[in-house]
Amino acid sequence: MKRRDFITKAATGVAGAGAIAAGCSSPDSGDQVPSVQTKKNVTWRLASSFSRSLDTIYGAAEVLAERVSALTGGRFRIRAYPGGELVPALEVLGAVQTGTVQMGHSASYYYDGKNPAFAFDTCVPFGLTARMLNGWFYYGGGLDLTRELFADFNIINFPGGNTGVQMGGWFRREINSLDDLKGLTMRIPGLGGKVMDRLGVNVQLISGGEIFPALERGAIDATEWAGPYDDEKLGFHKIVQNYYYPGWWEPGPGLSFYVNRNAWDTLPTDYQEALTSAAAEANVGMMAKYDAQNPPALQRLLAEGVSLRPFARDILEAARSESFNILEDFAAADAQYRKIFDSFVEFRRAAYRWMGTAELAFQDFAFRSAT
Ligand code: CA
Repeated sequence: MKRRDFITKAATGVAGAGAIAAGCSSPDSGDQVPSVQTKKNVTWRLASSFSRSLDTIYGAAEVLAERVSALTGGRFRIRAYPGGELVPALEVLGAVQTGTVQMGHSASYYYDGKNPAFAFDTCVPFGLTARMLNGWFYYGGGLDLTRELFADFNIINFPGGNTGVQMGGWFRREINSLDDLKGLTMRIPGLGGKVMDRLGVNVQLISGGEIFPALERGAIDATEWAGPYDDEKLGFHKIVQNYYYPGWWEPGPGLSFYVNRNAWDTLPTDYQEALTSAAAEANVGMMAKYDAQNPPALQRLLAEGVSLRPFARDILEAARSESFNILEDFAAADAQYRKIFDSFVEFRRAAYRWMGTAELAFQDFAFRSAT
């Protein structure tokens, strides 16, 4: 199958449960795969960047594996391994690239050192929400563009879940203005950290397991992680109670599945179809799981005495301004980055206009008046 055909098929077979289920009847299924080929037994290993305790994020790899097995009558099996078990958690992309494992599940912005444009496969500050990201990937040209990036790494990427708009994190003291951020020590990775650095924050990069003790002994004044369901497990509310929102640096971070290109090419077409559909199911399923689990988690946190606090407007405005400056600098330095950036910005402009109309008006009225 030509690569372009694959991309088109993948991009059109994945919106909503009906389209996912229809994956097996997409045009290329007319390839007439010999029956002996469909009975081939295949076993793959998938390296995740995430720990098993993060059941929503890590769980997407298990959903994918279960669905692939079910769709192939148990003949194509994928075994998922948590971060660190096969390869270091933040080296999943390299492990898939070299074929150490056939598949990975990770967040592409971990690899922005290899190519800064990988950030667009996850999120950038003041970027797209989960819904918008899926729109851009599946029907707005985004997946074609990110696949051009991953092709250089011998990888085919599939959207693999989203957390939705994240929370801004946990702060020891109240942050009422831009001045209150200056000199603050905060754990925040990636582009959000770069922006915070420009706003005067002393940015710390520490892994998930090290955050709680650092917060407890006062080595950091603040930390971000994800949202109520995941944050509750890490227990930050037992130390600090100011829970800020929104996490403007992660308005809809997308996770991704990576498939080694050579491994992909050895798969029978119907196994490729099964994997494509399973990835799409895992992608939309993660957001649904968060949408079911974050609301009660937030209620539990509030019952524990947590205070919800919005970031001050001057903080949001300064952060947005610095975010755009940083992205413009990257775009000015690299033509490939510019190509993706331009598509992203154009999509965002139209999406914000549309989502800022009926969606926002309804949410602003109905959500605020909810009891
Ligand atoms: Ca985060």
